[in-house]
Amino acid sequence: MFRSKLETWNLEPCAQQLRGLLLTQTLEEKYVKTFHIQSNHKSHRSTEPTQKNTTKMILTFLTAIYQRNVLAHLIKYILLRPILRSLEHSELLPEKRGIFFSMHKRLKEIIHECVLTAFNGSNYDNYLLCNSLIVLQTKFKEKIKIFKKGTSISTIHCINKHNINALSGKQKRNIWTVKLYIKDIRNLVAANVSLDKLGQLFNLNVPKLCFPYNQATSIHRLKTMTTLQPNNEHFWKDNFFGKTPALEHRLEAQAIYTRKKCTNVYEFGTYYLVQDCLLLHSILLTLIRTYLEDTIDIFIRRNYSQSGLAYQQFFIIEPSKQISKLLAPKTIDHTLFNYMIKQAVTGGLCTSFVHGKVDTSTIINEHLNYIENPNLSPQHWPNFYNLTPWWSKQFNQNPVGISTVDIRSLYPSASLKKLPVNTPLFYTRFTPQDHQHLYNEQSFYKTLHLNSYCNNTQKPDRDGSSDIFQLINTPPWFYNEFFALAHYLQTLPGGVKILRFQSHFTAMGQLEFGSFPVDGFLSYQDPADNIIHIKIIQYQSLYHHGHRADCSTKNTSLDAIKVEKTNRVRQEILRLCQQFQTHCSTLLNPITLDYVEIFDCDFPNHKVPPLNQFMLNYNTKYSYSHFLSSIYEKKLTGLVVLKNLKINKANQNPIFGFIIQKIEYDLTKLSPYTQSQVCHLNSGQRVVSVHECKSFMVISTEYLNWLRTHFGFAQEPDIYHGLFFQLDNYLKASLENKLTMRKELKELIKHEKNPTLKQNYEIKAELIKLMINSCYGYTLCNLTSPKFKTFENRRTMPKNMSRIKSVFQFEKNVLLVEKTKKVLESFPTLLGHVGCYILFQSKIILLKRLYFLLKYLNPRYAQLCYMDTDSAHFLVKHPHFEDNVDSNLKETFIRLYPKHFETGPKLSGIWVVEHFFTTGEYLGEKCYRLYNTHDKQCITHMKGLNAHFQSEYHNNNIELSKNSFLAYNIFFKSPDFVIFKTHMSKNLFQNYVPNKRYFICATGSVPLRF
Ligand SMILES: [Zn+2]
Repeated sequence: MFRSKLETWNLEPCAQQLRGLLLTQTLEEKYVKTFHIQSNHKSHRSTEPTQKNTTKMILTFLTAIYQRNVLAHLIKYILLRPILRSLEHSELLPEKRGIFFSMHKRLKEIIHECVLTAFNGSNYDNYLLCNSLIVLQTKFKEKIKIFKKGTSISTIHCINKHNINALSGKQKRNIWTVKLYIKDIRNLVAANVSLDKLGQLFNLNVPKLCFPYNQATSIHRLKTMTTLQPNNEHFWKDNFFGKTPALEHRLEAQAIYTRKKCTNVYEFGTYYLVQDCLLLHSILLTLIRTYLEDTIDIFIRRNYSQSGLAYQQFFIIEPSKQISKLLAPKTIDHTLFNYMIKQAVTGGLCTSFVHGKVDTSTIINEHLNYIENPNLSPQHWPNFYNLTPWWSKQFNQNPVGISTVDIRSLYPSASLKKLPVNTPLFYTRFTPQDHQHLYNEQSFYKTLHLNSYCNNTQKPDRDGSSDIFQLINTPPWFYNEFFALAHYLQTLPGGVKILRFQSHFTAMGQLEFGSFPVDGFLSYQDPADNIIHIKIIQYQSLYHHGHRADCSTKNTSLDAIKVEKTNRVRQEILRLCQQFQTHCSTLLNPITLDYVEIFDCDFPNHKVPPLNQFMLNYNTKYSYSHFLSSIYEKKLTGLVVLKNLKINKANQNPIFGFIIQKIEYDLTKLSPYTQSQVCHLNSGQRVVSVHECKSFMVISTEYLNWLRTHFGFAQEPDIYHGLFFQLDNYLKASLENKLTMRKELKELIKHEKNPTLKQNYEIKAELIKLMINSCYGYTLCNLTSPKFKTFENRRTMPKNMSRIKSVFQFEKNVLLVEKTKKVLESFPTLLGHVGCYILFQSKIILLKRLYFLLKYLNPRYAQLCYMDTDSAHFLVKHPHFEDNVDSNLKETFIRLYPKHFETGPKLSGIWVVEHFFTTGEYLGEKCYRLYNTHDKQCITHMKGLNAHFQSEYHNNNIELSKNSFLAYNIFFKSPDFVIFKTHMSKNLFQNYVPNKRYFICATGSVPLRF
């Protein structure tokens, strides 16, 4: 009705005005709308919140948002109309598929969709909103969906098909559908950063506002208080978090109170709220603008978490803007392969090698006095060789303190390495008898019982050297299409800017033009004439399309039919091209659109010559020794399943095991020392470092080769399966590009005088850092994890409970149900194999760096105390590492030092010396404190305990032997939207015990054995 009226008007001048208005609009206090219970903001009377008046306030809020959205709806329509119209009047839509159809669909959705952002430190606002919104939406007979990740609400989605609070009568004629998303934007940056900190991070100019939360016990109380009492500590203490704002912030708050002429604390509270909104919005606008300059439009996407954005950027957008990497990593949806990948994924290695207090009176590596001479190889462990003859009590040195080192940007540097692309090859091992039998069967693939074949190869005491590895999946095909595209891309003029290239092999996948699938789509801009060239590329194989008319070989009658068909398709595509060009001439100018056909007939012998590597060179069948040597020679690269891998005995040093493995274990595996410390231990999977792995493990061939060249194996690896990929440094160019951009920004910041510009640069640099760091996380994201929950409202009890997990009744006819998810795959991932490869690469980097120190430092002068993923703590006799190296090794150590330690400009993937402390107390993994006896500097790290407890623990110097039971506060959010504040008392120190090593005494352990 309204729309048809709109259609007849010329909206262009209006769109122009709107664009101008939106560009000049600034954030101001007066634009912030606040909502109050009853008229608390207007009158002197105080109305205390109840469920009823809160819901009423939220209705006012929802109505206001709805009205705003209707307006936004209109604005978006006016701005987008030219594009929508062009698409609608073309012939590219009726087939209901292909790129133009998706574009049109998403644009139409955007008109109806509105996003409201929330930033909730602990999600209180969203919980508060949710309860009332559920009641309201259900009573309006509208839908509301709630998405949770863990205990926090990530999105509230309201779909309103009828007008909210419309005047009766008008309702039917003019209906505005609005889809409202209320999103938590914390994930856009980093989930655990507070709004304040974020403002600081971005250097935003915001007043340091604080509010005496503890006084907010009632509206009446807030309205009767007329001062903020900045000097009253007790008044300001926040019992919930156990913190008190600093005096200068309290004084500033009082100054604002006076300046803003507040008559009571309630008014100041409102002002505080307005400032918070301004801060949130300036952060958001800055983010959106900064990303937009990088051509990432956040608001046309539905999911825009930091890791999601990084994934899109590095795995989809950037790869589509180049033509040198033509193979992308492909999603794997094979249950067995995914299971293998799941087994291969282990996070960082965190281990405490000592327990209890370590200071200048501790003896370095004292526990080694109790072990026999390990007789290590002089080549791989020259430092141990220097200790011969091995004599008891030789470990008798005292340290000066603990030196902590960190690997700079471990994961980004691991992401620069080669990663799996294209689809994999899967090999499995057969006994010669089984293998022979395979080819007598008719339908080989259908009757393959992997389990029984596997068991046959595993029978004890058999000689497996004559076993055979057989390729058992279909290798990737379409070689010719791939080579034909590569061939065409070579013919492009130099210096053109690629806008988009996609094919079946790239991240975007195959394109459909109208109803026709095409082999390649390319668009580029020629800087010579600024014209955008679009190429629809089709490969015409002899087999499917016959010979071209001008080919010397003549078509058979069967081929002639194929040629005829190809011609018909060509005519149709050409017609669509023509259509598109005339239609979009007003939107895209100037453009050329060509249909490029590549025929087999164009090549000698009707065969496209190979260009670029499509797949690793492989055989379908390997003997055991050939298979192994192919892995060692890096001809086969990927993941292998092997059993009982064991490092060469002469290289099993007693300090560290270099095989990092996930192991299921329990109390019985631990030493008598550890057993006496823990009161209970749940058996579970832990990541440990060992000399000898237990049972099966999945390992990347790169890691296997690293172990082999550095330490060798006790026996030949016993491999059962292999999942092999073509590798390519797929992320390298885009990551390096981002790093260069960051470097340039840092340089600009140094010299920039204009504060606004300087701040913009800082934000950009910070966002690049965030993006680089989260580039691999999303590939491992397990979307079926029970962490992700979906709720929906209902008016009646659901009849079919099969897909319902729980039902909660708010009031009569207002129900909230949790739906169960469809589980299709046990471990579905986007690109799990890529994430898993990055993790293996990061382990190789860590072990390389760690081995450098462990190989050269004299164990009498240096001890590894603690490590976590990318950091290590060393107890040292001399503060500088090189002084702990024996004289005969010193020269080599100093020569190699710059390869492993940062000495000049910032480099990634190498050690950075961080801190030095005189004392350390290690309670267990992720639980320690480091401090100096002579100054206040300290680092407290206690996972699961709040910052308040940690500082109390440090400042009051709680001694574990005297106070093993402690009382402290902990906050708990239950699934049904309630927050408990609990007074806890539990035996803290017995819950924190290092348990990943075999402890000989408190200050020393050796790798676990099984
Ligand atoms: Zn031909």
